[in-house]
This record gives sequence, structure tokens and C-alpha cells, in this order.
Amino acid sequence: MELKDRKTKITFHSGVLTIGGTVIEVSYGLDRIFFDFGTEFKPELNLSNETLQELLDNRLIPELDHVYDPRLGYKEKGENTHSNTAVFLSHCHLDHTRMVNYLDPAIPMYALKETKVLLESLNANNDFILPLQDTANGFTREIIGLDNEAVVRVGDISVEVQRVDHDAYGACGLIINTPDMKIAYTGDLRLHGFDREDSLKYCEKAKGCDALIIEGVSISFDDERHVNRINSEQELLDKILSIIENNSNKQVTFNTYPANVKRLAKLVELSPRPVVLEGAYANILKQCLDINTRYYQDDDNDYGLDESLRVAYKDLLEDEGHYVWQVVDNHKKLKGGGVYIHSDATPLGEFDPAYQPFLDALAANNIVFERVACSGHAFPEDLEEIVDRIAPKLLLPIHSLHPERLENKHGLRHLPIRGETI
Ligand SMILES: [Zn+2]
Repeated sequence: MELKDRKTKITFHSGVLTIGGTVIEVSYGLDRIFFDFGTEFKPELNLSNETLQELLDNRLIPELDHVYDPRLGYKEKGENTHSNTAVFLSHCHLDHTRMVNYLDPAIPMYALKETKVLLESLNANNDFILPLQDTANGFTREIIGLDNEAVVRVGDISVEVQRVDHDAYGACGLIINTPDMKIAYTGDLRLHGFDREDSLKYCEKAKGCDALIIEGVSISFDDERHVNRINSEQELLDKILSIIENNSNKQVTFNTYPANVKRLAKLVELSPRPVVLEGAYANILKQCLDINTRYYQDDDNDYGLDESLRVAYKDLLEDEGHYVWQVVDNHKKLKGGGVYIHSDATPLGEFDPAYQPFLDALAANNIVFERVACSGHAFPEDLEEIVDRIAPKLLLPIHSLHPERLENKHGLRHLPIRGETI
């Protein structure tokens, strides 16, 4: 596709007809920016060590010109002719951040400061994003943390970061202005969480843009996924609270995804029983929202948490009715006969080979399994609403198995392919 009379170029390096690994470049003359910096996800490949070369060979990451850390041995095809380069992260989910450590240290990387804090906390044990060889535990490369609505200039390109609602704390969308185009990149977003207003504000700022690059995760799947769906984070929370209330004098445990900090915070705030989090999660809540909660630890990491809030693991294993606590492993040790609430934790679902054995272990222990999940992505009707609110001249749906299901009443639509430049 051609953008007539424009000097701006948009290149879709990866993460188009798949969910994950979005790497898009916007360039103007010798200036360029990239967003995001994750890998595509194909567990079936069973890669042995995930070096840069192995990831390239399996097309999980794209060939990029003078972007990767020179120490990784990437074979550049020519001299570096670019004046300014920067990378932006929309949020901390792995499919958007997994190769953060592979970026050339000379290239600045930006994200909302909440995403920086969360990513560093999640990677405290060096096992979240891909590690750099020869680095100490917990190495996450330098990220410049931005305030909401900050504007960064990269030569002739300016980028504004605007918070959006997603199930990763600190998610943002980008508003990119070059001298001849206004481009909006949504990152991952939704309208049904606690921060709906942020997503609406993003739509307002993106309104009338020349090109809208939007995620389409929810339209990847057929309708059966929406049977019995939970329609909002509030509805999800109400459901969890009612399970706790209806099971007095029973052991109630739960697990959830660590980046969904708001869900954890609301549960801690509103639960009828004191909530006890696993140490790493308690640390995340403390780092992100400065909330101190009860916690337990069965490792020797020093998170610097308040000792007076520590609960002994053996007391939790015996507990019936006093606490609601987060269980992350060793489900066989639970007291039989209780209830376990699975709220978007791993293993996520049937597609994961670990899921059925996990259900079997709970059933063998006579524990009632309650799956209470709420999507981090806009529902199909909300994606349409977002497009309508923004009314872009050109719609570019990505990050989806079925991008063609999203239409644009307000102008053109183009379905980009991997590697395409427009
Ligand atoms: Zn995400």
C-alpha cells in the first residue's frame, strides 16, 4: 500500500496475523521509532536456548537494521544511516516486552513509569524477560519511565503516551506525530476494566488520525468464547467476593496474573477475609501502588516487606475460614475440601498441556475449582466502538488471527502483512 505524497513510512516487522510479538516501525527521513519489543509465541517449537539467532531463524523476532545489542552478534547488512532511533513499550506483557534486553544499549527505550516498575519487579529473579548472558540476577535494561501524557521527541517524530485500560498495570497507547501524519497505536486495550476513562481519553486524543493501528485479539475467536462471559472487572470482583462469602469455614485459595495489579488491589481492599499474597506478588503491590498486605514466603528472596505482615505458610495450609490466600504451586499440600478460584492465572486453559493435570490434582484433593476470568482485551463490540470514536482515515488492524473482522466506516482499511512497509 502507498501513503500518497507522504514521507512517513510504517513497517510491520512482526506480530501482525498472530497474537504477540508486535514490532512496528514508524520512520520519517533518518528518524525512526519502534513499538513494541516482544517475541511471537510458539511453545510447540520447544526452542533449546532462545538465542537471538535461534529466535530469528524461527521468525519469532524480525530482522532489524542496527537495533539489536551488538554483543549478540547480529549480522548487520550495512552502515548505520539513521539519525535518531527510540523504542516504546505499550505495556509489560511478555508478548510486548520479552526481548527488551536484546535492544542496543545505545538506543533509548521508553514506557510509562508504572510499566518500568512492574517489569523490573516481575523480572526480579531474571526469569520473566529473556536474560542477557553475563548479567547478574534481575537484570532489566535501562527503561526511561514517563509520566502519563508525556511527549517524547525523536528527531522529527513526536510521541505522546496516554494510559489505557488493560489487564496489565501501566498500559498505554501512543499518539505519534510526524511532519506529515498523525498515527495512533492502541497497544492492548479494553473498555470494561476499572480504568475505562483512560481508554476513552485515548480515543479522544487519537480522533481523526490519519492511521489507526489497533489490536484485534477478541475478534480472533468464534462466538462460543463469549458464552457466560464476565462483562467487567467489577463483575469479576463481585463474583470472587460472593464465592468467599458462600464458603465460610472452608479453605479458600486463589491465583491470578501478577501484572493485573488493580485486580489484586481491589481484592485486598474488599475481601471479607484478610488476603494473604505470595511474597513476589506482595512486592509488586507494594512497588506499584504502595499497598502493604499480608504475605507468605517459601523462598529466601529478600523483598524488604514488613515482617509484621508475614503469615506462616504452614498456618495457611491448615487454615479454614480465616484467610483467603494465594496459592501458586504445591496444590497437593492444600487441605482437601476447600475452594480454589482460578482468575486468569497459569495454566491459562485447555491449550496448555499443564492444564488438565492441574485440574486433576485439585479434583483428587476434593477441591472445588472455580474459574473466574475476565478478558484484558476489548470485546468485539467495544473494538467497533473504539474505531467509531476515533474515526481514522485509515484502519490497520493487527495482533489478531482475524483482522478482517474489524471494519472502518470512516475511511480506508488495510490488512498489513508481515514485513510490509506502507
Ligand atoms: Zn497485553
